[in-house]
Amino acid sequence: CGIVAYIGHREACPIIIKGLRRLEYRGYDSAGVALLNGQLSVYKKKGKVADLEAFIAEKDTHANIGMGHTRWATHGEPNDVNAHPHYSTSERIAIIHNGIIENYAALKQHLQQQGHVFHSDTDTEVFVNLIEEIQKQNSCSLEEAVRLALHEVIGAYAIVVLSREDPNQLIAARKGSPLVIGVGKDEFFLASDATPIIEYTNEVVYVNDYELVVIKDGQLEIRTKEDVKQTPYIQTLEL
Ligand code: GLU
Repeated sequence: CGIVAYIGHREACPIIIKGLRRLEYRGYDSAGVALLNGQLSVYKKKGKVADLEAFIAEKDTHANIGMGHTRWATHGEPNDVNAHPHYSTSERIAIIHNGIIENYAALKQHLQQQGHVFHSDTDTEVFVNLIEEIQKQNSCSLEEAVRLALHEVIGAYAIVVLSREDPNQLIAARKGSPLVIGVGKDEFFLASDATPIIEYTNEVVYVNDYELVVIKDGQLEIRTKEDVKQTPYIQTLEL
């Protein structure tokens, strides 16, 4: 339901938690974060953002890259396991997702035959394993694997993807669910709407359907799912 992500020079976790609070008005049943700092750590909990905060209070949350999610369950009951982020089978890749993948059952069956193991009942966990499988089969970059995966899924999504093997990179895409990029000075934000972003920057880019966002080494690139490079249209929000 709600998405917040950060890449830059600040501590990611407090920015993400604060952003999730700003998105609470959208309604949700669970919340979680993934933080990239050499390792890719996922913490998630059924309940309120306050429950997640209590859960991570004793954890090492130091990271300059991360993402967070508030879930409104569509596939699988609200519980800790079904909460986002979701790992791929190898736990190398993590995803957060708003929306519904309609053809998840067929994709899941196919991925299980290829050895992928599923822990949740969500459509989202299928998406991240599809990305992992495509990357393995094509020995391609993560961004290329995400782009190819967009051609396989039917439904609505805003996603953000992180990989342990790409420690300086945030990938996102959308179709049907909103996604906004905040462009700061040597830092970027992603969110479902601008409310988590505006206290840091008023320069925003609204992502269009079928676009893939790659933020890597301090650079923002937007491509269509057909791999055509787009010029980001930066809007200045009136505060
Ligand atoms: N379909 C996904 C799930 O049930 C995402 C729901 C959402 O948009 O929060 O986990």
